[in-house]
Amino acid sequence: MIPLLVRTLNSLSKFALAVTIGAGLVSGEAAAQQATPTPGSAKAIFGAVTLPTQGPPKSIGFYAKGCLSGAVALPTDGPTWQAMRLSRNRRWGRPEMIALLERLSRDAAKYDGWPGILVGDISQPRGGPMFNGHASHQIGLDADVWLTPMPARTLTTAERESLPFTTMLDKNKFLTVDDKVWTASRARLLMRAASYPEVERIFVNPAIKKKMCETWTGDRTNLGKLRPEYGHDSHFHIRIRCPAGSIGCKPQPAVAAGDGCGKPLAWWFTPEPWAKPKPGAKPPAKPREVMVSDLPKACQTVLDEPPVTSAAVATFGAKAAAGTAATSTMPVSSAGTGSTPPGDIPQQ
Ligand SMILES: [Zn+2]
Repeated sequence: MIPLLVRTLNSLSKFALAVTIGAGLVSGEAAAQQATPTPGSAKAIFGAVTLPTQGPPKSIGFYAKGCLSGAVALPTDGPTWQAMRLSRNRRWGRPEMIALLERLSRDAAKYDGWPGILVGDISQPRGGPMFNGHASHQIGLDADVWLTPMPARTLTTAERESLPFTTMLDKNKFLTVDDKVWTASRARLLMRAASYPEVERIFVNPAIKKKMCETWTGDRTNLGKLRPEYGHDSHFHIRIRCPAGSIGCKPQPAVAAGDGCGKPLAWWFTPEPWAKPKPGAKPPAKPREVMVSDLPKACQTVLDEPPVTSAAVATFGAKAAAGTAATSTMPVSSAGTGSTPPGDIPQQ
């Protein structure tokens, strides 16, 4: 039997840790947060561009250091998706990324009991660093999807700005998914996203990864694509590989084989990732502001190129709707398969 005092201390320190982690999650998510970008920085310059370049899509550089030309926009609304936070103007990406989001939304609605997706940030019109919210999302191959299902009605523009995020975590516990919020449909949505071959990584909170490790009874082949990361407790982040033939797109090594449920995950549940700097320790040097000259050389050219005439003409599907051959420049991955029941993810 544990003496009361020890038990109390234990739960107190656990609570303190939970609170610290809460703060850590916020700071992890907000690592790149700034009220306004530093004038002249790459973040300020890329953030001020409102339209993409003309021409074919090109991802230049790496997910966290690069830019994007020939981006297309996710339409703000589709039968199974709605784009959120439209004022941020970050619904731009490679056509492959946009096609994947649309496909995920359709498949999730059809097979997974998930009525549709709310899509957060993808990339800026010409990619590049963002002054708030993300370190990556720079080359049109990253996208955030809310863990909140799409409502049955079209949200107003104002609602898309203000709809609050819902964390999947129990705020009173150490790094634990709240079972009153979490659902099997969310697990199916994550594994659906992981099932697509072009998806290399999906970032989720370590507590969500743990929940998946403990509860996913289907095929675990793609479970390893779910990567534990700070934040990501109210949305998940999909990263796709450099599309075939994209010269200049710097690939990331594939994730290690296995479900990723062992040691690397256990580390997140130790104090180490959440430790505060020791008192008196020298604070880490503030990273130098990224300038356009720090990015791949071609990114200056991307900034100099003329824009498309409007966002509408560069919206995914617009060319197809106008009756031109969009498929030649906007490859869409093969269509979803027939009548797979929920939870049974087709392997492709
Ligand atoms: Zn993200």
